[in-house]
Amino acid sequence: MSRIAEAIEELRREIPSGVELVAVSKFHPAEAIEEAYAAGQRRFGESRVQELLRKQPLLPADIEWHFIGHLQTNKVRQLMGRVALIESVDTEHLLDVIDSEARHAGVTARVLMQLHVAREETKFGFSPDELLAYFASRRFERLQATHICGVMGMASNTDDADRVRADFRRIADVYRTIRDDASLALRGFDTLSMGMSGDWPTAVEEGATLVRVGTRIFGERDY
Ligand SMILES: *Cc1c(COP(=O)(O)O)cnc(C)c1O
Repeated sequence: MSRIAEAIEELRREIPSGVELVAVSKFHPAEAIEEAYAAGQRRFGESRVQELLRKQPLLPADIEWHFIGHLQTNKVRQLMGRVALIESVDTEHLLDVIDSEARHAGVTARVLMQLHVAREETKFGFSPDELLAYFASRRFERLQATHICGVMGMASNTDDADRVRADFRRIADVYRTIRDDASLALRGFDTLSMGMSGDWPTAVEEGATLVRVGTRIFGERDY
């Protein structure tokens, strides 16, 4: 069995049922994705539009692609109809562009709202207050071709386990506050994407329904 297939099988044993695995294949060649596919993995995550569009035609059509990187508005159109989930909506403007492009393409875009709680200043996303205010404003009701399926977030990049857990707890808390607000009447708001190679078990303990694992499956990336 290949190392990639072994890693997939191990993860499948470790990840509780009900939690989905996105294999983050960014910076790895189509051949590596094929190995994971042969081991039964169908959900893959990419962070750059050009890379996703280059690999996609080389690979089986039943792969479910997730876009997980910072998305520029001028590249949104190229993703329409090609990805199952855009996990990284980090501004309201991007969300509006996605909605307009999805409408023009005649598709429904499925998205997660990216929440920023980590200490790093460079990370993208809504602050908890911004995201809560967005929903409280009910501006999501204007979306015509976009389904907001939940929240994506990352913990601080640190060895401090308490800090990582606190970050995930904060993300999960915002997610549940929105999900459980009956006045919003959201349907299908049921995805909490958090946890990567180094911290996914903590993320799952804190309520993740989707984990995004790259290095643990494919090895180190050559940037
Ligand atoms: C690269 C990336 C991952 C995967 O990280 P690993 O540490 O390699 O598992 C997960 N989520 C996002 C948003 C990423 O950009």
